[in-house]
Amino acid sequence: MRFRLTAYFIFFALALMGMLWLFQTMFLEQYYEREMEKKIQTAVSSLSFQYSASEELDLEAYLVEIGEISNANDMYFYIEAEDETFSISSTDQGSAGRYYYSRSGVDLARERLIANNGEPVTFKISNQTGETITQVYAAKVDSEYRPNVRFFAFAPLTPMGPAVGILAKQLMTVTAISLVVAGILALYISSRIARPIRSITEKASELAEGHYDVQFQGSTYREINNLAGTLNATAAALSKTEQLQRDLMANVSHDLRTPITMVKSYAEMIRDISGGNEEKRNEHLGVIIEESDRLSYLVNDILTLSRIQAGVETMDMQPVDLQKTAESILSTYRVLEEQEGFSIRLQGLPQPALVNADVHRMEQVLSNLISNAVRYSGDVKDVEVVFLQNKKRLRCEVRDKGIGIAPEDIPNIWNRYERASSRGSRSKQGTGLGLSITKEILERHDAKYGVESKVGEGSTFWFELPLID
Ligand code: ADP
Repeated sequence: MRFRLTAYFIFFALALMGMLWLFQTMFLEQYYEREMEKKIQTAVSSLSFQYSASEELDLEAYLVEIGEISNANDMYFYIEAEDETFSISSTDQGSAGRYYYSRSGVDLARERLIANNGEPVTFKISNQTGETITQVYAAKVDSEYRPNVRFFAFAPLTPMGPAVGILAKQLMTVTAISLVVAGILALYISSRIARPIRSITEKASELAEGHYDVQFQGSTYREINNLAGTLNATAAALSKTEQLQRDLMANVSHDLRTPITMVKSYAEMIRDISGGNEEKRNEHLGVIIEESDRLSYLVNDILTLSRIQAGVETMDMQPVDLQKTAESILSTYRVLEEQEGFSIRLQGLPQPALVNADVHRMEQVLSNLISNAVRYSGDVKDVEVVFLQNKKRLRCEVRDKGIGIAPEDIPNIWNRYERASSRGSRSKQGTGLGLSITKEILERHDAKYGVESKVGEGSTFWFELPLID
């Protein structure tokens, strides 16, 4: 970066100087000559106007003026009547004008003026040695009041060579100074930009090595500040993810270990003790089967949750009639009504309740909520799934009249492995992941959700999704 910036700066300085050089040296002469031409024309037109326009002409004063203008502008004027009755020169007078030019110059100017049909002519002549160059201007001036005249003006052109030489020297010095300044400036700016970037790079490699507590420093530049901010956020997110992962591993290994221990100890019990006793053996085998099921649920839930959280699972959004979905889930619970005296009801809207959702994921949400309602329904085996319309949203409520949740537990039940205190019982067949999966899915659907519950009276879990018109 430093090299590039220096190169750009030096290139810029050189281009600037080059341009100045071009204008100052190459075009200076042309510019000067054009200015001189204009100056002569202005002087002549002022004098010729005075000569021709007014009826009265104070000849004496006029001649003095010619002398003065000649002096002031370093020009020589020669005026002659067309009828050759008189001629005036700016060096004739008392206050003698400047510069005298040869007759041959006047002759040449006259010749050209006549050749140009009296239209003004301007040209340059040089002396024999070519050292001095003179700008010539000739014009014809007609007057109503006095004889028509020809005006000739001569002005020496100062050679530009020495001036250009001086300018060139000065420019050289300026170029050298600006190159040095450009170089220093480039080094300074690049080090100001490069320093924070270097420090960010060093910190980023620390981050890559797993030091999530690094702090990225910004600088006075907004872009670098933004970069540092983003990297700080990234570091924080990485650190959080790592913490979550550690917690997850700890919880998962704990939860996996318990059923495995149970399976192992009951298997040993069958081998050593109950093998011959059919009744005992079947009881123990029942525990083994139950614990294996738990293991399988747990593994499934962990996989689902981590896939949803990692964003691997994209939601396949389609119009879904959630009432139908709920109906089909409830039908699998009918057996509980017959065998265990449950009352499980669906209270729906008269019309289909269409929302945009991933049908399989919403199936999972409903089935988690319904299975919780059944599992925590206590003695009042009453579960109700209700669909309501709340403005333009579909509200689904899963109500039970079971054990309820203590207010202090409510904020935690949506977290992984959180179970309402004291009541989290293994025999309930839960994995402690159901509600966190439910929460993830609902959040991916931008749904509103929540729970209202009273200990001993029951719970109502609800969520809302926008209805399709
Ligand atoms: P679990 O597998 O333990 O049921 P969940 O994530 O589904 O895990 O639920 C978390 C906790 O929330 C449960 O352990 C329970 O304490 C509480 N809970 C969930 N649903 C209900 C409910 N309908 N009634 C009472 N408590 C509930």
